[in-house]
Amino acid sequence: MVGDGAVYDPDAVGAKYLAERDRRLVPGRADIRDLGTDEVFAHFRDDPFTPFTERAPVHDDVDVVIIGGGIAGVLAGVELRKAGVERIRIVDQAGGIGGTWYWNRYPGVMCDVESYVYLPMLEEMGYIPKDRYAQGEEIRLHLQAIAERFDLVDDALFHTGVTRTEWDEESARWRVRTDRGDEVTARYYVLAVGILNLLKLPAIEGMEQFQGRSFHTARWDYGYTGGGPGEPLTELGDQVIALIGTGATGIQCLPPLAAAAEHVYVFQRTPSAIGVRGNRPTEPDFAQGLDPGWQQARMDNLQAVMMGRPVDVDLTDDGWTHHYAKVHNPPRRKGMDIGEYLRNAEAIDFEIMEEHRNRVAELVADPGTAEILKPYYRYLCKRPCFHDEFLSAFNEPNVTLVDCPAGLDRITEQGPVVDGHQYEVDAIIYGTGFEAELTPLARRAGHDIVGRHGVALAEAWADGAASLFGMMSRGFPNLFVMPAPGQQAVVTVNYTQLAVLGASFIGRAVGQLEARGVKSFDVSAEAQSAWTEQIVGSFVDASRVMAACTPSRINQEGHPETLNPRNGNFGRGLGDYFAYRDLLERWLEQGECEGLELDDQVVES
Ligand code: NAP
Repeated sequence: MVGDGAVYDPDAVGAKYLAERDRRLVPGRADIRDLGTDEVFAHFRDDPFTPFTERAPVHDDVDVVIIGGGIAGVLAGVELRKAGVERIRIVDQAGGIGGTWYWNRYPGVMCDVESYVYLPMLEEMGYIPKDRYAQGEEIRLHLQAIAERFDLVDDALFHTGVTRTEWDEESARWRVRTDRGDEVTARYYVLAVGILNLLKLPAIEGMEQFQGRSFHTARWDYGYTGGGPGEPLTELGDQVIALIGTGATGIQCLPPLAAAAEHVYVFQRTPSAIGVRGNRPTEPDFAQGLDPGWQQARMDNLQAVMMGRPVDVDLTDDGWTHHYAKVHNPPRRKGMDIGEYLRNAEAIDFEIMEEHRNRVAELVADPGTAEILKPYYRYLCKRPCFHDEFLSAFNEPNVTLVDCPAGLDRITEQGPVVDGHQYEVDAIIYGTGFEAELTPLARRAGHDIVGRHGVALAEAWADGAASLFGMMSRGFPNLFVMPAPGQQAVVTVNYTQLAVLGASFIGRAVGQLEARGVKSFDVSAEAQSAWTEQIVGSFVDASRVMAACTPSRINQEGHPETLNPRNGNFGRGLGDYFAYRDLLERWLEQGECEGLELDDQVVES
């Protein structure tokens, strides 16, 4: 028996988890409509937030083009400014600054990582977030304020998609062409395109026949729902809504939807493990007594806890540090053999998942509904979620949970069909997430990046990432990539922490290259193979454990054996952030540009 505070029986738990996995491991579960080529649904990517305005094409030469105006791109811009770079152009398909926080304005959106470490540059900006977990709009406005402070907005090209970027050997510049007819040349090219930047629309039979409204949560249609971010939805009183998806997004937008709509049907394929959120306003005295450097120290404290390192005090003290860190770093006592270690790890995991299942039973009044909402898999099989109102929303008479572990049967003119039952709805809202973080960089960038000898990045990385530090790649001179998971760098639960490190590295590296009068740099063949070998050498094949997981983007939708070791991280598992940071720091301090081939001719501007 598993659930309702059952006694731990490893065999029964394992069998239950496998049975639940198998209900979901069905052919076609990961099929998507490719919005890059799909004519019926291409408009799902359109920007509902900022009107498109005509402008003349831009033809000019700058120092740096940064692709992406989210956290990564803004921080890269800031650090380049600090290094003295003058002409910077951010290019983004969005109508403004913010990246994921520009696009994701669905009701209830907020950060899942503590705001005091997630919102960057709090000390420099003299800003303290209003709440422990910030609303999306607060984050977007904060990023915009940073971009304005560092003069990154006026020269940015918004609502602009790059179509092709090519290295020109003779002028030692990147030539960037866009869908607005721009042609900009740049000495440096920085890819800050994001990790989960491509919204995912599942391919469901018949979906194009639906006659009502439909949109993805990353392009919320306030014209239809009324209201705005953080405001009640005013137009849904007589509307029946289908919400597809119960990941981090779906769980955040259900409560405001339920408060406004006549009825909401929630189509759940896999239940999320939903821990306590405990959001609260920032204490008035939060900033008192904070020493300079407090934010980096707080980030380091969280990362240390996540990596299982001893700390005096757990400053974040939330579900990430209580559950994720515990499961990620099971105790290893002296003399413990591997079998005992693994059994102990499983028992800890079971206890934590039982806690989540019991929470469902406590908060959801109807036992049948509660049972469907209980997650039966190991904690790290899916990205954990945190919320305090999602589960109780199912006690409302206008919210119905629809269990569809194998997905929807189809969608008709009237709405979704599951187990032969037609749900008639006015709108379908797809909270179906994003293409996985391991989506190849070239696809996430969305344009051809053609380096030396006409070789495109997609081609150069066809067998996996090939880089120095996960940030530079041979054959692509003067190109930097902001570090990201699956790209030979490291993973941090708080992405901002990695972005801060990557941006600082890029700014300081460019500062050094400029001081030397370098015309162009490329990664040496030896340095790239050594780095890639190190990544491959530390790869831990966890596919046996991950194959037992419910399918998700974390285990390649049930096929963890397809993970390419070259797309691993620096260090074991999620990587060793602190060792990675030390290594980058030593490289910068040495000032020798070790591993780079430099063309030292004087730069013509
Ligand atoms: P997600 O976690 O990938 O969830 C997508 C949901 O859609 C899942 O419930 C999934 O079911 C369901 N789904 C996908 N295809 C389906 C199909 N064909 N039929 C029925 N259901 C389908 O996406 P997300 O919730 O947008 O979150 C994505 C990531 O963004 C998160 O992991 C997180 O990193 C980030 N995020 C962060 C925050 C935050 O910090 N506050 C908020 C939102 C998102 P399965 O589970 O069965 O696949």
